[in-house]
Amino acid sequence: MNTIYFDNNATTNIAPEALEEMLPYLRELYGNPSSMHTFGGQLHKKIEEARSRVAGLLGAEPEEIIFTSCGTESDNTALMSAVESVPHKKHIITSRVEHPAVLNFCKHLARKGYRITYLPVSKQGQLNIEELLKALDEDTAVVSLMYANNESGVIFPVEEIGRILKEKGILFHTDAVQAVGKTPIDLKKLPPDMLSLSGHKLHAPKGVGALYVRKGTSFHPYIFGGHQEHGRRAGTENVASIIGLGKACELAREKLSQEALYLRGLRDKLENALLQSCPDARINGDVNNRLPNTTNISFGYVEGEAILLKLNELGICASSGSACTAGMPEPSHVLRAMDVPAEAIRGSIRFSLSRYNTEEEVDRVIEVMPVIIKGLREISPLGGEKLGKDICT
Ligand code: PLP
Repeated sequence: MNTIYFDNNATTNIAPEALEEMLPYLRELYGNPSSMHTFGGQLHKKIEEARSRVAGLLGAEPEEIIFTSCGTESDNTALMSAVESVPHKKHIITSRVEHPAVLNFCKHLARKGYRITYLPVSKQGQLNIEELLKALDEDTAVVSLMYANNESGVIFPVEEIGRILKEKGILFHTDAVQAVGKTPIDLKKLPPDMLSLSGHKLHAPKGVGALYVRKGTSFHPYIFGGHQEHGRRAGTENVASIIGLGKACELAREKLSQEALYLRGLRDKLENALLQSCPDARINGDVNNRLPNTTNISFGYVEGEAILLKLNELGICASSGSACTAGMPEPSHVLRAMDVPAEAIRGSIRFSLSRYNTEEEVDRVIEVMPVIIKGLREISPLGGEKLGKDICT
């Protein structure tokens, strides 16, 4: 049975071209870039090439890129650096829909005495700029707001947020882990001071990420040790994965605009077909302002987990916002923040596509989903429950 992988916001396959470039550095070229000898020292050039490729995708300068181990480390480092840059300020603003990489670091800082404001979002998952303006004060050290949401795909108005913060001289970090490689980002034009990305979300390997730090922004390392990354992030470089990330960024840059059209076409075909064939379905999130690869759909009268299991039996991978998936004890905090009714959260499924998905795969999911939903509804204890009336489309 062939796997149909529609869970690309969870992780992606490594692009074959990236893997190809990595392999020599996992086999014969295993040196340490810090070594004096050529065998190790020659790797520096490859790391710097990767840095330029990551910078190229973002419209950044190579020296503005710091390699990390993952998106979580980039997010933690950005927040820690920000609060250390302005030690007299004790207020942090973020949103209720951030990834735990930001939310749980904020909780950690709250335990150390920081005041955290969690901005609400609308039913469509959008940020209200008025709420941001109200929350800002003299004590605000940093604002951390994501570029695009991992569950709904909703894109925040990063340019507008950044303009406001720049005027007030407040640091702005954006978690762009889901956005990089899926939507154009030009940091020559966009205002964030810091931006996080993660390799495994854009067809590079797991275990590598990057943090962009705008030139002139005060930076404090989070990991101390050797002099790697010009003293900004210690630890022997994950050479092969950094090379993979560089290649993946180069590919994303070449393919991005065409790929966005392709993915939007596939996603919209899937979404429209499911809305037509499955009664009592609704889209969660702002359909006019989303990543092109993501759809989050709630199906009434069924458990998302039951749908996932049925899909899994057919070799189809997706994810759900309902309880107990991926070890989560709680229903999705993102959908709750969007005021999605509890029964709609329970029946929510996220499909997230990549350039490696095909129209045939979409057709297969279109074919099986109505059968799965109908079958589950016939045996569902949720049979009598109505979906919330708020249709977010
Ligand atoms: N931020 C967002 C929006 C994410 O979706 C993820 C991963 O799902 C992360 C951060 C964490 O990235 P990583 O898995 O590389 O630590």
